[in-house]
Amino acid sequence: MQNTIRILEEIQKLDIEIHSIEVEEKNYLTKIEEAGAELKRLEEFRAKVASELSELNALLSNAQERIRQGVEKIQKTEKRISEIKNTKELNALNKEINAANKAKKLAEEETERIASKLNDKKTLLDEKDSLQTLKDSEQVQLAKDLEEKKGLWVSRITGKRRLKEETASRIPPDIYKKYENIRAKRAGIGLALVKNEACQACNIHIPPQVYILLKKGVDELMTCPHCHRILYVENNAKQPV
Ligand SMILES: [Zn+2]
Repeated sequence: MQNTIRILEEIQKLDIEIHSIEVEEKNYLTKIEEAGAELKRLEEFRAKVASELSELNALLSNAQERIRQGVEKIQKTEKRISEIKNTKELNALNKEINAANKAKKLAEEETERIASKLNDKKTLLDEKDSLQTLKDSEQVQLAKDLEEKKGLWVSRITGKRRLKEETASRIPPDIYKKYENIRAKRAGIGLALVKNEACQACNIHIPPQVYILLKKGVDELMTCPHCHRILYVENNAKQPV
């Protein structure tokens, strides 16, 4: 039984290694997914800023057109001064010029405000563009790394599974099956070390008689009364004398 237990230890070690590779793979895929989602959010934000920028440009053109019209109107009105016949007409003309000047001034102020906003948006867009370029290249690198890692993960897992099969063939199939059943039900751990009379997997004390039998190395499989994992004690040969 001692020999079987040592082989189960080897199998458990391989199972833990396989699991850690699977976790590494899963974490890496999550990282890629998160980077992809971040890039998508960034692209959406960038598109929003670009659309705001185009709206501001339209507003700017509109305000500039109003300035042009204002200038035209003032020039046309001023040309009519020579045709003035009386004060009433002069007043009316002045009123027209004043109104055109006011409209022009308003349009100029608006132009300034829009130009300032445009500037801010352009700066923001530039920032987002640089960030997007960076994130794009990061994404490309992650995908490239993934391809390399995938190959490595597959070969490492395949190698360990093959070794596990070979190792498992050295113990009775019913014991191996029992180990696998427990492992499936107990968070991937089928074998538990007993130290200081306690199961190290569930941290609960085991009955003293079970501990004595384990230390003696009886020819039967002992399981933890609490977590049902197969129990073992450290190999005496490995311990210092
Ligand atoms: Zn236990």
